[in-house]
Amino acid sequence: MTTQSLPVLVAGGGIGGLAAALALVRRGFTVKVLEQASEIGEIGAGIQLGPNAFHAFDALGVGDKARSRSVFTDYMVMHDAIDEYQVAKVPTGEAFRRRFGNPYAVIHRVDVHLSLLEGAQETGRVAFHTSTRVERMEQDAEGVTVWDQNGQSYRGLALIGADGVRSAVRKTYVDDPHRVTGHVVYRSVIDKKDFPEDLQWNAASIWVGPNCHLVHYPLRGGEQYNVVVTFHSRKEEEWGVTEGSREEVQSYFTEICPKARQLIDLPKQWKRWATADREPIGQWSFGRATLLGDAAHPTTQYMAQGACMALEDAVTLGEALRVHDNDFTRAFDLYQRSRIARTARIVLSSREMGRIYHAKGVERLVRNDLWRGRTTERFYDAVEWLYGWNVANCLAEAT
Ligand SMILES: Cc1cc2nc3c(=O)[nH]c(=O)nc-3n(C[C@H](O)[C@H](O)[C@H](O)COP(=O)(O)OP(=O)(O)OC[C@H]3O[C@@H](n4cnc5c(N)ncnc54)[C@H](O)[C@@H]3O)c2cc1C
Repeated sequence: MTTQSLPVLVAGGGIGGLAAALALVRRGFTVKVLEQASEIGEIGAGIQLGPNAFHAFDALGVGDKARSRSVFTDYMVMHDAIDEYQVAKVPTGEAFRRRFGNPYAVIHRVDVHLSLLEGAQETGRVAFHTSTRVERMEQDAEGVTVWDQNGQSYRGLALIGADGVRSAVRKTYVDDPHRVTGHVVYRSVIDKKDFPEDLQWNAASIWVGPNCHLVHYPLRGGEQYNVVVTFHSRKEEEWGVTEGSREEVQSYFTEICPKARQLIDLPKQWKRWATADREPIGQWSFGRATLLGDAAHPTTQYMAQGACMALEDAVTLGEALRVHDNDFTRAFDLYQRSRIARTARIVLSSREMGRIYHAKGVERLVRNDLWRGRTTERFYDAVEWLYGWNVANCLAEAT
């Protein structure tokens, strides 16, 4: 691989930005990551990872690091939060791994990020610029120039906008509105000693209720538990993250069973997300600039796939550069053609999944009937399109 004189610029040092940096280094480039925060890091919460994420980690050379920090679950389970009826249970042990070639896992976000960061640092080819907020960008025939909040400029061969849901790169090239969902998410991490024994399952567990749901799963070898609860807000919401209030979260979830309700009484501290997504778009590559991760396809969290998609994006970007011999404009076009339908499917399916989770009245009865008697194989067939992704087929639809 030839080394180039200029680096590739990556706006954003989150999971997507670091994964992109690793993919670019594997194509022979040096990379400059421009991050607005004063430190490269992640928030304290858990995340679920499908086998597609592990295929991506392997392709980026950090599979072992990510695996060593993951908890591999035995099953996913959905209960009705009103009467504890078990709506569905899908084994994610040996048979699941055999089918999809990799496990289902739950992991602390910090540990996903750290695995990518260590990988990037070990290459010696990724430079990090913190406290650097990308504000403006221009491109010409040879490269891209980016300016930060202090007017400092950075020159690169190309620009990857991995700057999250409020992407400045997306604003420059697309400038579309976001869609506030009115759904509010509260998240917290609880030590095992404080977590109810009757909920200490090695599973990605969800309790679904009217206009709400609750999720819990183990982290860090079962020493901690991640708790995420979601409800439809009574008030007009503005997109953003704030400190949560115990009183607010307890004022919802009044109709649910005591076993699930204990989850909302546990945390001493909550973080509160008023969520938003955007309509999927048909173009996110613009000459030498492209988007990746939440900047490209911000989604609600109900498919638990936002970070997995960012990892897939990075691998696909690397593959597109390989196919087009590191020609950015052609590779960025192939990359977007390979990703748009798949990621839009996540955004749209996720909205629908939110509706199914939060069903009430007769719709709730339909939801509880949906998977009755379904075999494990049929569950696996239904998610083949999602978990069957890998580096060998990532460009297939586009080529
Ligand atoms: C409640 C909840 C639960 C979730 N659960 C899951 C799950 O179980 N599984 C899963 O796969 N996904 C999950 N997700 C989605 C996942 O968190 C995101 O999709 C993922 O973090 C996106 O990564 P990213 O790097 O694209 O964006 P981000 O993580 O937002 O990173 C963007 C980075 O860019 C920086 N930045 C922003 N603007 C600028 C700028 N102008 N200049 C420079 N830097 C900038 C930010 O500081 C940040 O570091 C969940 C999300 C939520 C809200």
